[in-house]
Amino acid sequence: MKNFKKYFPFYDKQSNLIYFDSSATSLKLKKVIEAEMKFLNENGSNPHAVDYKKGFEAFEIIKNARQLTQEFINAKKANEIIFTSGTTHSINLLANGLKKIIKKDDEILVTELEHSANLLPWIALANSIGAKIKKIKLNEDFTIDQEALKLQLSDKTKIVSFASVYNTVGAKNDVKLITKVIKEFNNNIIVHVDAAQSIGHTKNDVTDSNIDFMSWSFHKMYGPFGVGCLYGKYELLNQLEPLFYGGGMSLKIEENLIDYSLSSLPEKLEGGTPNISAIAGVIESIKFINSIGLDQIEEHELTLKDYFKIKVKENNLNDHITFYNLDTKSPIILFNVKGVNPQDITNFLDEKYNILVRGGANCARRIEGVIGTKIAIRASFGINNNKAEIDQFIEALKNTNSFLD
Ligand code: PLP
Repeated sequence: MKNFKKYFPFYDKQSNLIYFDSSATSLKLKKVIEAEMKFLNENGSNPHAVDYKKGFEAFEIIKNARQLTQEFINAKKANEIIFTSGTTHSINLLANGLKKIIKKDDEILVTELEHSANLLPWIALANSIGAKIKKIKLNEDFTIDQEALKLQLSDKTKIVSFASVYNTVGAKNDVKLITKVIKEFNNNIIVHVDAAQSIGHTKNDVTDSNIDFMSWSFHKMYGPFGVGCLYGKYELLNQLEPLFYGGGMSLKIEENLIDYSLSSLPEKLEGGTPNISAIAGVIESIKFINSIGLDQIEEHELTLKDYFKIKVKENNLNDHITFYNLDTKSPIILFNVKGVNPQDITNFLDEKYNILVRGGANCARRIEGVIGTKIAIRASFGINNNKAEIDQFIEALKNTNSFLD
C-alpha cells in the first residue's frame, strides 16, 4: 500500500495524529495551499479586472479551473460548470433557481438519508409553493430501491434528488441505473445528485450517468475551502433563476430600473467576485487526483475498509460495538459503543489515541428512521490513511469496552 502522507503538511509537525474525518473535510494538499498562497502573494487582483495583465491572469485561472472541472466530471461544455462556495450553496442555487418551474402539488423525491444540505433547500422550496416532498424507499443495504422507485414516480414527479454516497452509512447508489429508471418513466424529471461524498473517492461521469445536475465541494477532494460546483446540463442550467444578483453577471440595466439583461452562462449564475484564491487551489486538487487516478484512490480506501472489517471480526468487536455499515462500498464506518454516548467515545479516541472521528447526527437528521438511532460515531478514510492507523484504531476500539464496566 502506497504512502501518500508526504503530500499533506498536516502531518509535518504532528505525525502522531490519525485523521479519520475525510467525510467532513479532507486534508489539504501542500500544492493546493501553495497555489492559494501564490495567488494571494503574487497577484491578488479581481478576475473581473481584465483591463490589466494581473486581472487577466486571475481570469485565466478561473477559465483553466473550469475546463479542468469540466473534464474531471466529463461534462460536455465548460459553461455547464458553475463555481459556488460549496455543496450547500450549489443545492440552494438549484432549488431556488427552480422556483418558477416547480408548481403547487408537484412532487420532489428524496431519501431519508440525505444530508441537511440536500433536504432543507427542497423542503423550503416545497413549502414556499405548496409542492410535496416524498421519501424514496431504500433497500436493506441503504441504496435506493429501484423497483419501489418505479412505482413512486408519477406525472407529478418533477425532481429526484439523492446522494451518490451517503455521508453516514456510506451506501453507494448506482447513479446511472437510477437515472435510467427515472428517465425511462419521464425524460423531463430533473435528476440531481449530491456528489459531496463521492467526488474525491470514485468516478462521477455526468455524461455517462445522464444526470441533469450535480453538486459538490472541493474541500472534500483535498482542495480548498470556500469553493464548490453546480454542474447542470446547459439547457436546464440556463433556465435557473440566479440566487445572487450583482456584478460580473449583468449586461444592461434599463433607465426605467425595471428591465435588465444578464450575461450568458456561466457568469449569469456567478454574481459577485468569486473566491479566486481558492479556485487557484482547485486546479491543484484536480491535478493531484488525476495523477493518482480515481480507480487507485477507490482501491486504496476500500482496501482499508476491508482490512478494518477483518480486524473487527478477529477481535470480536461486535460484542460491545454496533457497526451499521461494514458492507457499504465507501470508506465510511458508522458505529456505536453499546449504551455509550458517541461524544464520550469521540473524546476518548481524541484524548487517549489522537484519533479524530465525528460523533452525533452527522447532519443527517432523518437517519433514525433508517438505522434506528439518531446519533452515531463516524470514522472516514482518505488516501492519506494506511493500515497501521487502522491497527491503532482497532486497539483503541478494543479498549472502549472500559466504558461498559
Ligand atoms: N452533502 C453531503 C452528502 C455532505 O456530506 C456534505 C458535507 O458533509 C454536504 C452536502 C455539505 O457540504 P458543504 O458543507 O461543503 O456545503
